Amino acid sequence: MRADIQRFRISPWPISAELLFPSAWPRWRYRLHHNVFEVSDPDGFEVSETADGYEMSVEHRLVPYAPDEEIYLQLAAVDLDDPRALLRFVNRYGILGVRFGRYAFFRDFPSFWEIERKFDEALGHIFGGYPSSADDWPDSAYRVLVLSEWIGEFHFGARCIRDLITAWKIVSKQLDLSAASWEALLPQDVPTDENEAAEFLATLVTPALKPFHPRLEVGPPEPAGRYGKWTLYSLCCLELFTHIAEGAVYRHCANSRCQRLFVRQHGRAKYGQHRSTGVLYCSTSCAKSQAQRNWRERKRRAEA
Ligand SMILES: [Zn+2]
Repeated sequence: MRADIQRFRISPWPISAELLFPSAWPRWRYRLHHNVFEVSDPDGFEVSETADGYEMSVEHRLVPYAPDEEIYLQLAAVDLDDPRALLRFVNRYGILGVRFGRYAFFRDFPSFWEIERKFDEALGHIFGGYPSSADDWPDSAYRVLVLSEWIGEFHFGARCIRDLITAWKIVSKQLDLSAASWEALLPQDVPTDENEAAEFLATLVTPALKPFHPRLEVGPPEPAGRYGKWTLYSLCCLELFTHIAEGAVYRHCANSRCQRLFVRQHGRAKYGQHRSTGVLYCSTSCAKSQAQRNWRERKRRAEA
């Protein structure tokens, strides 16, 4: 049986939940130029937009990825008003790909037409509009468009992730609705009860999970992961999805300079062996730097 599957070169994906996660994805160097994240060196690769993501025919520089990086929670902690912090995040993980499929993942976002109008206006200024297909555009212009993100689009994607986290906290009783603050939702669309928060969560997360649907794939398995067929925004939604599936509870990092939300400590052990209870810090590096600060503080007091 196994041999037959090999012969016909069909592979089911994902085989296990852990394989849902890509093990690596391509990364480029970005710069922030006139409020647009763009690839510093767009030459040397071909990009086209397909039904379920970007296809790239290039020598990728692959970035290894572990689910305990919890990228969506890191994104939630980035100061959106600090361009340098944004660029640091983008150069580590990439742009969110909010524009993918002409905002396909945001079509059901409440009042999205209002937001899209602003996007269209900005893109008109920056790129001269949105291309209807790769053929309508000179190759280089199209590549720059799909490999770039206007800072306003990135902000919106990041705020959507924050609102989704807020919605999950409400639904899982980690936050009271009355104490919630919303960032992407317009005032008239803010959930007024827990059911509406749950509905918003489902409405926004579900379409973004589409690239990860189980399927049979013809051809040899790709051990490097399904890179190139999804966007970082989708991956963030997938991370949230798995946390929802396991009923994860958020913690605040006890490092006073970090304090970001996390579920599993990063950098401690291989995925699957993480302690998620009794852990105070989001990462081993946060634990170390806080321990050092505490030690210096004790020393100062002892010397005084
Ligand atoms: Zn931390």
